[in-house]
Amino acid sequence: MKALAKTMPAPGLDMIDAPVPAIGPDDVLIRIHKTGICGTDIHIWDWDEWAAKTVPVPLITGHEFAGEIVDLGRNVTDLTLGQRVSGEGHLIGKHSRQSRAGKFHLDPQTRGIGVNEQGAFAEYLRLPAFNAVPLPDEVDDEIGAILDPLGNAVHTALSFDLVGEDVLVTGAGPIGIMAAAVARHVGARHVVITDVNPTRLALAEQVADVVPVNVATEDLRDVITKLKMKEGFDVGLEMSGNQRALDQMVEALVMGGRIALLGIPPGKSPVDWSRIVFKAITLKGVYGREIFETWYKMIAMLENGLDVRKVITHRMSVDDYRAGFETMKSGQSGKIVLDWTG
Ligand code: NAD
Ligand code: ZN
Repeated sequence: MKALAKTMPAPGLDMIDAPVPAIGPDDVLIRIHKTGICGTDIHIWDWDEWAAKTVPVPLITGHEFAGEIVDLGRNVTDLTLGQRVSGEGHLIGKHSRQSRAGKFHLDPQTRGIGVNEQGAFAEYLRLPAFNAVPLPDEVDDEIGAILDPLGNAVHTALSFDLVGEDVLVTGAGPIGIMAAAVARHVGARHVVITDVNPTRLALAEQVADVVPVNVATEDLRDVITKLKMKEGFDVGLEMSGNQRALDQMVEALVMGGRIALLGIPPGKSPVDWSRIVFKAITLKGVYGREIFETWYKMIAMLENGLDVRKVITHRMSVDDYRAGFETMKSGQSGKIVLDWTG
């Protein structure tokens, strides 16, 4: 089968011919239809410090996918051949306290497909049946291929009650944009999204009913005044990993405001802790998706009018993967979806 793999400890990915994975009794084999390129895949492509210490070589990469079940392990009775699925790319252990309490997303033994284990950038993927998520007709393959990052957005956005709240999203990358759309969908009052990249802010406006703010040229305080917010934002969703964005968020929040942090800062970053203490701010770190509550809520919202399709700005054949990665790296795109069926 065709697969995109890291074959050497160096930048880039290669298209290789790999054996179709053998499945165990509790697995399914998925014929991949579409995959999404993630920021994580860019780190792996670039072979940065994190990738070099995390990713074994050789490895088939990729973790955002949708496809169809073409083989079932003998113990799998609740899925069927031909069923369209996406799936949770975090493979969890079963022995930790958190796992045994059903908080699967908090299992410290988690391993990621396309990061630690063979991934989804391939014609076929082996996945534990437990991780497969059936797709209803309303969720087509290209949306199915971006449920992993949409899940990050949903997990973050649903961290706090947003009904009637004024919400600040920092970072209009694909995940920030989708989080803003979710905030709008669940009934926030004002949703403001910041970035320093005008292309991304323009995309945010196309995807969701949000107020875009370029913090390189505009002052967030003016926006607070213009929108007639009394004291500031109630909830912040940090989606940039940028230190200045977090500082700005803390400043722009009301006393007792709440922040969910998904963005990953590049290294240790200084935080003005006394400001957070005196403003009595609640901080919540967000990792992955709640397994499987986030999937349940996300699919239910998609069936009920949540529309994030415009965040997909490029659709291409996997044969053009180099162009896909280049476009992704340029910052001039939203999600890029690769087709494996051609
Ligand atoms: P992205 O890199 O595409 O988007 C980040 C955006 O932040 C960019 O558009 C960038 O221009 C913008 N930005 C930079 N400086 C800014 C500033 N001062 N103010 C506002 N915006 C600024 O990333 P993405 O794929 O959308 O993911 C969002 C973040 O979430 C990333 O940091 C990513 O590493 C992280 N992430 C975390 C998890 C998790 O489980 N915690 C999972 C997936 C992604
Ligand atoms: Zn991803």
